[in-house]
Amino acid sequence: MQDVLNGPLESLEQWDDFVKSRYRADKEKDEFRNYRAGANPGVEEFYRQNHAHQTLDFVLRKKAEYGLLKKNRMGVWDALEHLNTLVDDSDPDTDLSQIEHAMQTSEAIRADGHPRWFVLTGLIHDLGKMLCFEGEPQWAVVGDTFPVGCRHSDKIVYPEFFEANADSKVPKYQTELGIYEPHCGMHDVHLSWGHDEYLYQVTKNFLPEEALYMIRYHSFYPGHRENAYDHLLNDHDREMFSWVRKFNPYDLYSKAASRPDPKTLKPYYTDLIAEYFPKEVNW
Ligand code: FE
Ligand code: FE
Repeated sequence: MQDVLNGPLESLEQWDDFVKSRYRADKEKDEFRNYRAGANPGVEEFYRQNHAHQTLDFVLRKKAEYGLLKKNRMGVWDALEHLNTLVDDSDPDTDLSQIEHAMQTSEAIRADGHPRWFVLTGLIHDLGKMLCFEGEPQWAVVGDTFPVGCRHSDKIVYPEFFEANADSKVPKYQTELGIYEPHCGMHDVHLSWGHDEYLYQVTKNFLPEEALYMIRYHSFYPGHRENAYDHLLNDHDREMFSWVRKFNPYDLYSKAASRPDPKTLKPYYTDLIAEYFPKEVNW
């Protein structure tokens, strides 16, 4: 096994846990305001890097590079198992492996009687983290996503770290709309690069549009939780974001009474994958 985690987080879940702690519904107000005080220094350093390096130019380069889907050919189940070999410093007794997080999410969706494509989306939503195996640093794999090419909203976590972003010195990127037209639609907006956009590129020909919105925008907390970019959304995005919001609690809060057992569940999920995907897909 190789250690492919490249950055200040001890595990990629450290970022997920941080988001969870920010959005906990039962959080005391004061505790919420003070989330920074309790934040792990690794998380802070992670956001410092993320906000400094995610520029429009960087995003366009990564989209061009990975959009070709020439990195790999692999089946979806194999990708899940491959992702599970990510080595990190998280505690194996309390922290979930990648495949367990995937299955807790999908099993919670299944238990609520949602359509099969929704269950499948829960299972695969984080497969874009395969970016780690291409040597991408953590700040280009996870983190809340945000539009580039326009002013950074102060609703984005740690907004002060954008001072170090080269785009902050480009006046045309610093108006509210930047390079975009009012309500141009998310299809024309470039979000910071990470596992959401990568998996969208991989799955865009195989899943219903609702599923693709969930995959592509699940880390876009400034949009789907803070409503900070309504001036870029069109009516269709608004409709589709209701699906992103439906998905989000399963990602953040699904806690099964027992840990899912990948071995027992594998036959169900390989059938489900085969319903939507060919044997191998391009990555
Ligand atoms: Fe994710
Ligand atoms: Fe997730």
